[in-house]
Amino acid sequence: TLDSTTSLRIAVQKSGRLTDKTLNLLEGIGLHFDDYKRSLLVKCLNFDVELLLIRDDDIPEYVEDGVCDLGFVGANTVAEDEADVTILRGLGYGVCRLAIAIPKNGSAQNVEDLDGKKIATSYPVLTRKFFEDKGLNVDIITLSGSVEIAPRLEIADGISDLVSTGGTLKANGLVEIEKIFDSETQLIQTNKPLSEGKQKMIRKILQRIEGHKKASQ
Ligand code: ATP
Ligand code: ZN
Repeated sequence: TLDSTTSLRIAVQKSGRLTDKTLNLLEGIGLHFDDYKRSLLVKCLNFDVELLLIRDDDIPEYVEDGVCDLGFVGANTVAEDEADVTILRGLGYGVCRLAIAIPKNGSAQNVEDLDGKKIATSYPVLTRKFFEDKGLNVDIITLSGSVEIAPRLEIADGISDLVSTGGTLKANGLVEIEKIFDSETQLIQTNKPLSEGKQKMIRKILQRIEGHKKASQ
């Protein structure tokens, strides 16, 4: 049953690259919160909305399960999770790409040279798909972080990792050879049924984001 008395719950990354931009966007469209760094669940001061602050990796699942109605999260995370959610819109921040990189002075020159080799990544689903589509067989080594160090440790021959400026790759003697996936922050919505009140609030939020984007262009 639909519970019209509960607040629209929005998942936001607790602490990371998307946090400040997302909270600024919410403030920018007139949703006010106080003390959001202190607690996990934060009530909006002027609308029937609350924020759940969690790790970005957990956001697609929380939205898929309907624990949260909306979420602000990277397209990379949504795609990797293969989450059953509705993407409402891209937001133009948190822009990055998932790309293949290899040691600058190594034996491999292109992705074909990685056939039969080891690739370290935090994105095994998207990475496996990329190589399969090319008919290449690679051994995927899943690491939760610091993927860029894997070639130097001889754990892997190449990596598939998020890149924005390329500074991290360069600092680790790696060169980008191919892009797998373009990403930006997305606003996602649960596919679970929502009360009229929540649907109305979501329409309001979308309209305001639209207006906010236009004003800031
Ligand atoms: P959490 O503790 O929430 O799991 P995290 O360390 O996994 O955080 P961040 O590094 O804060 O995540 O990145 C969050 C998102 O920011 C990424 O999933 C991606 O969508 C986006 N992003 C933009 N540029 C980059 C980049 N250069 N490297 C990594 N992520 C980036
Ligand atoms: Zn994460």
